[in-house]
Amino acid sequence: MTRTPLPTTLDGYEVWFVTGSQNLYGEETLRQVAEQSQAVADGLGALPVKVVWKPVLKDSDSIRRLALEVNARDDVIGVIAWMHTFSPAKMWIAGLDALQKPLLHLHTQANVELPWADIDFDFMNLNQAAHGDREFGYIQTRLGVARKTVVGHVSNPTVLQQVEDWQRAAAGWTASRTLKLARFGDNMRYVAVTEGDKTEAELRFGVQVNTWGVNELVEAVDAASEADVDALVAEYEELYDVADELRAGGARHQSLRDGAAIELGLRSFLEEGGFGAFTTSFEDLGALKQLPGLAVQRLMAEGYGFGAEGDWKTAILVRVANVMGAGLPGGASLMEDYTYDLVPGSERILGAHMLEVSPSLTTAKPRLEVHALGIGGKDDPVRLVFTADPGPALVVAMSDMRDRFRLVANVVENVDAPDLPKLPVGRAVWKPAPDFATSAACWLAAGAAHHTVMTTAVGIEVFRDFAEIAKTELVVIDETTTVRGFQSELRWNQAYYRLAQGF
Ligand code: MN
Repeated sequence: MTRTPLPTTLDGYEVWFVTGSQNLYGEETLRQVAEQSQAVADGLGALPVKVVWKPVLKDSDSIRRLALEVNARDDVIGVIAWMHTFSPAKMWIAGLDALQKPLLHLHTQANVELPWADIDFDFMNLNQAAHGDREFGYIQTRLGVARKTVVGHVSNPTVLQQVEDWQRAAAGWTASRTLKLARFGDNMRYVAVTEGDKTEAELRFGVQVNTWGVNELVEAVDAASEADVDALVAEYEELYDVADELRAGGARHQSLRDGAAIELGLRSFLEEGGFGAFTTSFEDLGALKQLPGLAVQRLMAEGYGFGAEGDWKTAILVRVANVMGAGLPGGASLMEDYTYDLVPGSERILGAHMLEVSPSLTTAKPRLEVHALGIGGKDDPVRLVFTADPGPALVVAMSDMRDRFRLVANVVENVDAPDLPKLPVGRAVWKPAPDFATSAACWLAAGAAHHTVMTTAVGIEVFRDFAEIAKTELVVIDETTTVRGFQSELRWNQAYYRLAQGF
């Protein structure tokens, strides 16, 4: 069996920069269009996904062929389109209809300032994106093409940030389209929100969600060699502040070795199957010695998606958020709204899970400890203990609304936590926007899940772009949200998304 480590990177991807024009203008103008569009593409050269300039498109057939080529190339994750001149948009119908990759319409022009004193009609003829792009906007809207529209000159940092956000969303979409997700056991018994239509998920997000008996994982854990366990334990001692009782010679060192074997087994199972996400279930641990804690935490921090209690929908979100945040400070993790501090005016949410919170949420050195866990009925599990760094964060949940998936996001601020000497788990403490009561009321009205992905690497714009690309409902709770407005949005969405998908 070949084992491939999971790639969580934007390296190796391209987005293609295409410029629209037509043959009407003659060679000299088209030469300038090519030159100036190359300069615009170069202006996007510092973005995390490589932007590749393509020769100017001037007729229907070349536009359609470009779309087909983009569709066929796994490494091309999206297209940026700009109409430097006027490109009659019926030429774009076949190409836009064929295109199956994310599209960004960059409404820009070559120059910033107008050279007022020198403008002649040659200049006007060359620089007419102001109306060329409107013609393009019309046909995109007429065809119902999902896209992001970014307006402004490429020297503007806001423009660059918007394009980068879309690039990250396109990479998340690519990861989702190719994601294989392994479930060990089923959902937690009787739980509703972690259920969902796995067949629909494969159509909507491209994710293959399938289940394996947990004892297949146990076999992989049993196959871990003593030498590999030794090496991994040494790595733990290097990376973490390991409790004395877990260290070599410590009274509970065997617990750490058991935890290391679980990591080795999980990793080999995931790598051999080409999986990028997985779920576990404390109700179905088979012959595993511990509920996987440390192993899950470390795999999430490397880029894997994970959901507890069989929650494959959150596992998808964790994987997608990990890819979208590749190379940025911070990380993504399973999170659960656990308990509240309701002191009026300074309400806070304490989020955690039994064990499975990713250490990518902290820049501090986590402590590696072992403690009893009543749930699961197994040996005491090893786990990393830390508090998420203060700073901006986002929590996103996915619910199956029967006829569609709904994403709900809340913009939040992670804050410093008081000492929690008796709570040895990874955790985060946050204040939700716009305020605690509005946030919680909206979350409940939306039927949003108690499991989320918390990301501290990417913001709401990246998730908005992802939802647009995925043609999936996203409702956002942020500083502008009111309960009344939010409830209206939910009602309108209910009608819109049913109509939009037809009958
Ligand atoms: Mn849970």
